[in-house]
Amino acid sequence: MILLRNATLLSGAGADLLIDGGKIAKIAPAGSLPIPQFGEVMNCDGKVVLPTFVNAHTHAAMTLMRGICEDRVLESWLHGIWEVEDRMDQDFVYIGTRIAALEMVRTGTTAFNDQYWYANHAQQAAADAGIRATVGRVVLDNFDAKEAAMLRETCERMYEESRSWGPLSAFAANIHSVYTVSEEMIRWTTEFARKRGLRIHIHVAETATEVENCRKAHGGLSPVEYLDALGVLGPDVIAAHCLHLSDHDVELLGSRGVSCVHNINSNLKLASGYRFRFRELKEAGANVCLGTDGCASSNNLDLLEAMKTAALVQKAWRGDPTAMPLEDVFACATVNGAKALGLDSGVVEEGRSADLMVVDTDSTYFLSDAPFLANFIYSAHSDCIDSVLCNGEFLMRGRRIPGEKALLERARKALSTIRP
Ligand SMILES: [Zn+2]
Repeated sequence: MILLRNATLLSGAGADLLIDGGKIAKIAPAGSLPIPQFGEVMNCDGKVVLPTFVNAHTHAAMTLMRGICEDRVLESWLHGIWEVEDRMDQDFVYIGTRIAALEMVRTGTTAFNDQYWYANHAQQAAADAGIRATVGRVVLDNFDAKEAAMLRETCERMYEESRSWGPLSAFAANIHSVYTVSEEMIRWTTEFARKRGLRIHIHVAETATEVENCRKAHGGLSPVEYLDALGVLGPDVIAAHCLHLSDHDVELLGSRGVSCVHNINSNLKLASGYRFRFRELKEAGANVCLGTDGCASSNNLDLLEAMKTAALVQKAWRGDPTAMPLEDVFACATVNGAKALGLDSGVVEEGRSADLMVVDTDSTYFLSDAPFLANFIYSAHSDCIDSVLCNGEFLMRGRRIPGEKALLERARKALSTIRP
């Protein structure tokens, strides 16, 4: 049992929050709840309690590959990454994901949607770190029937194994993209996911070339239209990027209730584009979320930074400072991401999962009378995040994460073993 005492909520109201059994058990006026006989009390004077962030698209283990391919065109960038991936093993993925989890917790994220190799080791890393993960075998058959048969078997096996995972982890169907996976395998994986109530996670319309090639290969259909024709699109689909969209694509993604993940920093870095159609997608009914993508392209997993960049770029490319208001960008990073992954977090409310961050406002950034979100999103940096809880447990308290030094050391060792 944890009591967060004298906290401030996003509304500006003072409150005590009682955390019990992984949930927000009670929210009452500040100073009104009795100190629990057993458990911890955190004095939250001058601190704001918020829901934690959800990173709706990433490749977590790539934390150990950041910065290795800067200033290169996509093809050369990919080759640089593949060279490292050829040498890595399951331990590398485990420690890379532990490092990702450290960084996520430091920056206020307690749930992520992952797509990477050795998914069961990524899951183990997230579980050991105490954060929520949605992971699954990457389905990428390169249009090869033998590979597809192997993938079907692995998906079945990993799904069975996932039934013994703890409550913070979920198995998903990770279809890589329309340009790396055969039609047969996209159909099979979709059916496999729907029969088991799994999320379907796929890269969609990330680059103009992807759209162009898809139209050539599939009778003029865009990636969104092609996936819809195959019966893939639905509210259980998490589509990463959705950057190059026609009006018809927007309409389809909206009417099917797809979760569309904006990964602004990665899109900017790889020069994939920046005209993400936030307003149109939202109005059409899509669930717009935020992600960072992997650290090889976004370089960090900081969703506070991603919120700021996403909002600034929306305003700039539209020539409209009212594009992507504070409340909208905050919802993308929190409650919308939670909805995409089927979590009941994302809002500070009684009965919801206690996935919370405590923000310290004792700094230059929060002195003005501006709305809290204005100073949080546009002025502060994530070192204002003092403490983080996931499922009602402290993962970071007063900026301290137990075991951090040992994990950094282990990551340095893992890196030294894969150097050519
Ligand atoms: Zn990606």
